[in-house]
Amino acid sequence: MDNSRPPHNGHQDREFSVTADEVTCQQFVEMVTDYFEGALEPHTLSQVEEHLVMCDWCVTYVEQMQATIASLRELSEPSAPEPTDSLLAALRAKRGGT
Ligand SMILES: [Zn+2]
Repeated sequence: MDNSRPPHNGHQDREFSVTADEVTCQQFVEMVTDYFEGALEPHTLSQVEEHLVMCDWCVTYVEQMQATIASLRELSEPSAPEPTDSLLAALRAKRGGT
């Protein structure tokens, strides 16, 4: 039986969560990778963007994430070993000189 449950308890639970149409900073942080990957649904994306308009903290967070992602991409990129070119050029220059 469910007698122990007050009939209107659901109302109090709602104070914990925000309105369905609002994104909290914590929710945004959880979604931020999807946001960068463009994986958010259009509806969610617009909520996120609305949140960014009014939340400086999350804007700063996004900027930091962008910087982090950019540096991670640089690291993970199979970048052509840069020394090779200049080394070859130096060798060629030496040989050409003689
Ligand atoms: Zn926020």
